[in-house]
Amino acid sequence: MEKPGRNDPCYCGSGQKYKKCHMPLDQQKEKEKRDWLQAAHFLNRDFMLFAREERFAADFATALPFYWNKLYTLDNAEEMSQAEALRFFDWFALDYTLATGGLLAEIYRQEKWEDLSSVQQQVLEKWLQEAGASWAYTLTDYDADKLYLQDFLFGESFVVEEPGGRGVVEIGEVILARLVPMYDHWEFSTSAAYLPADEIADLKEKLIAAQETMPQATQIEFMRRNSHLLVHHALAQAQRKGRPPVARLDPDRPDKMTQKQKIVRQVKRRLA
Ligand SMILES: [Zn+2]
Repeated sequence: MEKPGRNDPCYCGSGQKYKKCHMPLDQQKEKEKRDWLQAAHFLNRDFMLFAREERFAADFATALPFYWNKLYTLDNAEEMSQAEALRFFDWFALDYTLATGGLLAEIYRQEKWEDLSSVQQQVLEKWLQEAGASWAYTLTDYDADKLYLQDFLFGESFVVEEPGGRGVVEIGEVILARLVPMYDHWEFSTSAAYLPADEIADLKEKLIAAQETMPQATQIEFMRRNSHLLVHHALAQAQRKGRPPVARLDPDRPDKMTQKQKIVRQVKRRLA
């Protein structure tokens, strides 16, 4: 929406000048949104650094092959592409149950809470309460950068804003991502993966079977404990179709060693 000038009539039709009517409220909202996005950016970065602390190295060593169904292990962790490393760390921080029993993000909250600004605290709290697990969502419709998604298993609807739009994903296909609340909309936490129509296969049956093994779990507990199944499914489907399931096995991989991969290598060195 085009904003009126200070002395123009307000868009709400009150007949007042904009500066006397909705301008102060609009400015406050814009500032809130800026602060929110800044806090989210800080937390994303700080989470990643926290996840790489030495005390989590043993968990990292267990979690990595578990998530990748052994296609990545400590021995070749540095060969993850940047997108793979981001997806892995996102899952490791927010879905993976550490050997001590909790989530890394919860430990982060306990230890860092006092150091965070009030906006950072708000954002963190909202993420911990409302962000789902890394999960599967069916694309039901789209409009430029707005994607209309439906939870693949539970059926809830979401509108996600994605600057890159739907990319190559067609309606009815499945996007693998974590949805996080960002001020007034949902976003993907990191670059999403997707399942083409003919690779969705028996995914729903697999998830329903997993559900039957933990009938007492809440929806979010269930999602966190089983989000790796979605990754394993996607990897198996890629292999079945003759595609390299991970960047490491792609003979034509375009990317070179990135900063993120160097950090993975540091974690590995600390463990050695
Ligand atoms: Zn107004």
